[in-house]
Amino acid sequence: AKGAAMVTAVAYRLADQSRQIIQTLEELQLTTEQLLEVKKRMKIEIQNGLSKSTQEIATVKMLPTFVQSTPDGSENGDFLALDLGGTNFRVLLVKIRSGKRRTVEMNNKIYAIPMEVMQGTGEELFDHIVQCISDFLDYMGMKNTRLPLGFTFSFPCQQTSLDAGVLVTWTKGFKATDCEGEDVVGLLRDAIRRREEFDLDVVAIVNDTVGTMMTCAYEEPTCEVGLIAGTGSNACYMEEMKNIEMIEGDEGRMCVNMEWGAFGDNGCLDDMRTEYDRTVDDLSLNPGKQRYEKMCSGMYLGEIVRNILIDLTRKGFLFRGQISETLKTRGIFETKYLSQIESDRLALLQVRSILQHLGLDSTCDDSIIVKKVCGAVSHRAAQICGAGMAAVVDKIRENRGLDHLDVTVGVDGTLYKLHPHFAGVMQQTVNKLAPQCNVNFLLSEDGSGKGAALITAVGCRLREELKS
Ligand code: BGC
Ligand code: MG
Repeated sequence: AKGAAMVTAVAYRLADQSRQIIQTLEELQLTTEQLLEVKKRMKIEIQNGLSKSTQEIATVKMLPTFVQSTPDGSENGDFLALDLGGTNFRVLLVKIRSGKRRTVEMNNKIYAIPMEVMQGTGEELFDHIVQCISDFLDYMGMKNTRLPLGFTFSFPCQQTSLDAGVLVTWTKGFKATDCEGEDVVGLLRDAIRRREEFDLDVVAIVNDTVGTMMTCAYEEPTCEVGLIAGTGSNACYMEEMKNIEMIEGDEGRMCVNMEWGAFGDNGCLDDMRTEYDRTVDDLSLNPGKQRYEKMCSGMYLGEIVRNILIDLTRKGFLFRGQISETLKTRGIFETKYLSQIESDRLALLQVRSILQHLGLDSTCDDSIIVKKVCGAVSHRAAQICGAGMAAVVDKIRENRGLDHLDVTVGVDGTLYKLHPHFAGVMQQTVNKLAPQCNVNFLLSEDGSGKGAALITAVGCRLREELKS
């Protein structure tokens, strides 16, 4: 009888355990109603960012980019491009040839930016960047040409022209001093001058979303939206000039860098955030900021997962109740590991070996739970990203007074590229939430290089036209 009672007690405990785990994961599941609510609120914030009367307090800033057309194939020349703010820092040489056979040829080198430099002084950061350019020019044997340069700078910038942009705030892992509130092009030009070694013609500052849209539009003219689902999250699209109240002129369109990562910073998503989202936010470099980005981008998904695992371990449901040093380490679950863990082709044994590689000793049950947690977190990320996109495409459709819109979205980013389910779930969500739009997502690789060069080419052409 005693044995039977014990078995019953164990069974109860197990039932209670799985009930609590299920409860934790349920908190991350959003209903269609909630997703429609995300879409609706994003639409409100878009309007707030565009209107003069609300722009100042708006969280989604809707920044003008001074890019007023997509490429037309006449772009031509050799350009240098910088890509700062994604997974890697890169310097690129881009050769664009117009004419019957349009070609784009690229050479690039990846450089490391040590953490001390990312979070040191602005001068150190920009000196480091120029040092990398110097190395690249040596490598290409091009130190003596004054190349036009497009600077892909993947942070919010208040632009007043194509070649001037004041950094609003750092995001992601960056925190260099004396840069916020400064014109980033000026900081770069100063650093080039300090080095007294070579000269460059900085023509354009470009957000990665805009570069991605332009790269995609070069091949596919129906592309009028750019999306990054990578380390960070953001989108841009072609908005009607008359709706961009902060800019003079009512004719035509301009690309707007939404900076949608800051969606929710006024608390409007708080009813959907979990205690894990709040912990990740609190422990980040920029607490209270980029709340939407922290729910749907690569830099933070792994952190949400880690915090859930810590909680489940504390409750005794995982890792034999032992919170290891590894589990306490920030940033262990990079996008590539989440993507591997969630791969359908992987047997549980392989999941265990990935966890082992990360320094986590798991049982078979542990690995099942870890995989479920990863799945719930990335599924929600793809859904809310899709809900935001649904708001954008519907806005474009309404702008044009259409019942139906066909549109292409150029996408880049490690999460989109590496994760086995993110792209599919996002597509499904957009289809469901924006039924009047037919949205075609197109992977647009290397927007930060190619796109920046295309924009620089247009910038050079416009300058020549102004001169004559
Ligand atoms: C930045 C955006 C950028 C996005 C994707 C965000 O953190 O604020 O400017 O486009 O990351 O890189
Ligand atoms: Mg990038």
